Amino acid sequence: MQITKRRLAPSSKYETPYYIIRGSGSGRTVVVTAGVHGNEVASIAAAKKLLRLIRQHDVYIRSGKLILVPIVNQIAYKRHIRGKPDLNRTFPRHSRESARHPLSASLFRLAKRNRPDWYIDLHEANGFSKRNPRVLGQTLIANPRSKAVPAMKRVTAKLNGRITNRSRHFTIKLRSLPGSGRNAAYGILKSKAITVETSWEMPRSTRVGYQVDIVRRLLREAKLTSD
Ligand SMILES: [Zn+2]
Repeated sequence: MQITKRRLAPSSKYETPYYIIRGSGSGRTVVVTAGVHGNEVASIAAAKKLLRLIRQHDVYIRSGKLILVPIVNQIAYKRHIRGKPDLNRTFPRHSRESARHPLSASLFRLAKRNRPDWYIDLHEANGFSKRNPRVLGQTLIANPRSKAVPAMKRVTAKLNGRITNRSRHFTIKLRSLPGSGRNAAYGILKSKAITVETSWEMPRSTRVGYQVDIVRRLLREAKLTSD
């Protein structure tokens, strides 16, 4: 396993590190991003924790390649805000369109160069979707007809089996969100693109735990890990 640190949007005010973790064998490519929204702190903490676990070999990438961007929008993160404009509406909406923000442009170029099989974007949201289907807290989201759905079903079934409080169970939502990273990865790069949303209404450590657990399960689905 080899870890390389690089920079997104280098030499600009948006500069932010990302990591390429290569397994020794050939395999799939997975992109994991957090901090597209700067105030969704548990997803950022989860991405940082994942990097620590990889460095300690507690998560061991055997084959393929993981590209991890722990804090996409550093400026929004430092200000504790979602970000203005909303970065997740600035990704290209079709293959001939460019991104409308330097950060989404840089991130999408990175993804496009690597043609990821999977694109996992970590977020947080309000409420508990099991109790109220209109909210996004505790959901895994993909586009309708996404090839990611069977894996999402397996992951949520196993995850929910370990969550005793049923209102915290994760549900799957299928929807399109033009301008989002997920939409661009699904529509333009043909990736299995998934948005992960934990609920803000739980303690931070619980949210971080769910996010790390979900990413670990998805890395297994992508066959990057076997633990
Ligand atoms: Zn978000």
